[in-house]
Amino acid sequence: MIQLRLRSECDRSLSPFVVRISNGARQCRDDATLIFEKLGVLNYRAEHTEFCIRDVAPKDIAGDVLLIDPRRQIAHRLIRARSRHNTFLITEQCDQRCLMCSQPPKEHHQDMFEHFLSAARLAPLGAQIGLSGGEPLLHKQALFNFIDAAWTTRDDLSFHILTNGQHFDEGDLPWLRSHRAQLLWGVPIYSADAAIHDEIVGKPGAFAQLSGNFSLLGLAGAALELRTVVMKQNVSGLPDLADFITRYLPFAATWAIMQMERIGYGRMNWSHCFFDSSKEFTDLGAAIDLMSARRQSVVLYNFPLCTIPPVFRNLAAQSISDWKQKYLPECESCSTRIRCAGFFEWYREEDGFMGIHPQ
Ligand code: SF4
Repeated sequence: MIQLRLRSECDRSLSPFVVRISNGARQCRDDATLIFEKLGVLNYRAEHTEFCIRDVAPKDIAGDVLLIDPRRQIAHRLIRARSRHNTFLITEQCDQRCLMCSQPPKEHHQDMFEHFLSAARLAPLGAQIGLSGGEPLLHKQALFNFIDAAWTTRDDLSFHILTNGQHFDEGDLPWLRSHRAQLLWGVPIYSADAAIHDEIVGKPGAFAQLSGNFSLLGLAGAALELRTVVMKQNVSGLPDLADFITRYLPFAATWAIMQMERIGYGRMNWSHCFFDSSKEFTDLGAAIDLMSARRQSVVLYNFPLCTIPPVFRNLAAQSISDWKQKYLPECESCSTRIRCAGFFEWYREEDGFMGIHPQ
């Protein structure tokens, strides 16, 4: 697993600060240059201080944007220059309690927007940055301000925002319209049946609120990626959900059907929720066929390729972020590994897919 937090050493009296690890010559005052390397410890000079990073080779962090936390002696890799999977965790607070949540909510919110803005300004040209939570729109005004501020100097950036879709209102329409070109909204919907959706997200009335807010996103012309984690609770309703999407949400750019991640509440509820799609794909296949027949896009996230019937494999995406992706020993001999999403780092074979077969 790629480490997103590295051991660091610097003056503990300093406040946290953001730097970019220089590839060579310093390009701006926020670049830090390598002074020397000794016994696996990298010593860098930033504008006002020096600091060390451990457990990593210089080439592996060249161009990365780090948040140095002197008090905890940790460097957070906010942006990895060679990765397409960079996400800022806006907040750990959330108003839903989804059965499969991989990042269980916390009460406390730590405002990191100042550091995220510094990091965004140092991101590679044309980067897409994920914004997730928790529920980022619980801090909607601060989030919108952050995006506006980032774009004043970096209008080449785009953002993919994961939200539960509960917190839009009509007053957001002008902002949503004026920002639609560079924002992609990833919004979960788990069922066309309000009671099942509300049960899965642990919030009465969530489906009704979501439905109204989908209309707002449609009115704004926002780019929308619908997301549905397949579970025992909703798998039989997927064809109905496909019908609902094609009738009422035809403006959605795509529908991502996703496999569960065995961490957080997903780990706690694994046996209650995990649906082994390597054994049974009928409802998934019917939902995909309906979407295709009505010419609406559908993709499969987090499905190992061999768990999908061959006819649908072209829909599978390499969706698992590189830092938490792994393969199994039997994948070594598989000819399709290069196209396969693989598994989450915390996947367990003993209670996972029954049908893993090297191709
Ligand atoms: S055997 Fe492994 S690499 Fe091959 S398709 Fe299955 S999960 Fe992917």
